[in-house]
Amino acid sequence: MNIILLGPPGAGKGTQARTLVEERGLVQLSTGDMLRAAKSSGTEMGNRVAEVMARGDLVTDEIVIGLIEERLTADGGGNGFIFDGFPRTLAQADALGELLEKQGQTLQAVIEMRVNDDALVARVTGRATCATCGEVYHDQTRPIPEDGKCVKCGGTEFTRRADDNEDAMRNRLLTYYRETSPLIGYYYAHGKLRSIDGLGAIDEVKARVDGALSA
Ligand code: AMP
Repeated sequence: MNIILLGPPGAGKGTQARTLVEERGLVQLSTGDMLRAAKSSGTEMGNRVAEVMARGDLVTDEIVIGLIEERLTADGGGNGFIFDGFPRTLAQADALGELLEKQGQTLQAVIEMRVNDDALVARVTGRATCATCGEVYHDQTRPIPEDGKCVKCGGTEFTRRADDNEDAMRNRLLTYYRETSPLIGYYYAHGKLRSIDGLGAIDEVKARVDGALSA
């Protein structure tokens, strides 16, 4: 089962992807995570993309398609892949279609997660992530526990993304509407699109994702 989670930054794609990994044994492929890893390991590519990411602009298609191609061939896929934050342009969507076809795989569904802009800005500007397991916290809605330990893994280090501030977020949203939202029509035309409301508690949204996958 290969699935794309499509939606603006802060829609909850990463959170839902992690649940699908745990429950269905899928492999999560997040180009944002791959690029942040490249950035922090100080590779030449990482240094090149750091500024682009901090501004909330898109990294070139060539770089992200290369990253996905590498992982698709290396991981084998197990029960399938969840694409989180990829594709973000029509060129990336075409490239993904070709890569999957080459591997004899198909795309089962594209789940579009809808959340209004004000809620998105509020979500990302208080966001913190456990550096060990990726569990997500929020200053207002789900603060880091008082003992400073992650509820999931006990980790004590938490990170905040450089692009989780209001200016970068507004730009990330504009980029989403300009470059990525055309994919909604693209996948609708391919008969793959399932749209869900992304607002609500994590479990409520998860139930909608499950519903969309069994529809
Ligand atoms: P994300 O973690 O998905 O919000 O991605 C963080 C940042 O990484 C984005 O704002 C872009 O700068 C870059 N990025 C991630 N995925 C892609 C992609 N598929 N295409 C281009 N840039 C990307």
